[in-house]
Amino acid sequence: MSRRHETSDPAQTEALAAELAAALGPGDVVLVEGELGAGKTTFVRGACRALGIDGIVTSPTFTIGQRYEATVPVSHLDLYRVVDIGSEDPDLLADYIAPDRIAFVEWPEKAVATIAALSRLAARVVIEHAGGDRRVVTIEP
Ligand code: ADP
Ligand code: MG
Repeated sequence: MSRRHETSDPAQTEALAAELAAALGPGDVVLVEGELGAGKTTFVRGACRALGIDGIVTSPTFTIGQRYEATVPVSHLDLYRVVDIGSEDPDLLADYIAPDRIAFVEWPEKAVATIAALSRLAARVVIEHAGGDRRVVTIEP
């Protein structure tokens, strides 16, 4: 996929995510970065739909992540509230990031090294506001 995209509504961001999802397989981890309200969860929702997940996809609030069952199981993590993943519990992420699953991680910045040790970084997605409902979505392999 090319690197830089512009979307002008949530559906376009979801469609872009679906395109990326089509290239993912077990063991792939996608980092999703951007400020609050940028559209990280919207992006993950689009990817999850494309991967066959029918239920509600929202940012996990009371846990660091959610696990969804599908042909390939999918994890969705939000590390916003995590202070230091290394000292909190090194095994915490292993329940979500593993070779048999696809994983999407919002706010991955504090845990990139831990994530990379557990599985394969497939892509880094950065979403930025560009006025109103417009967003710039950069996808780095
Ligand atoms: P984050 O997870 O980054 O905090 P969310 O995906 O939860 O962000 O929220 C993004 C909000 O912005 C949603 O209310 C969504 O409908 C809205 N939105 C408006 N335009 C877009 C767009 N082009 N792409 C993604 N979300 C958008
Ligand atoms: Mg979110």
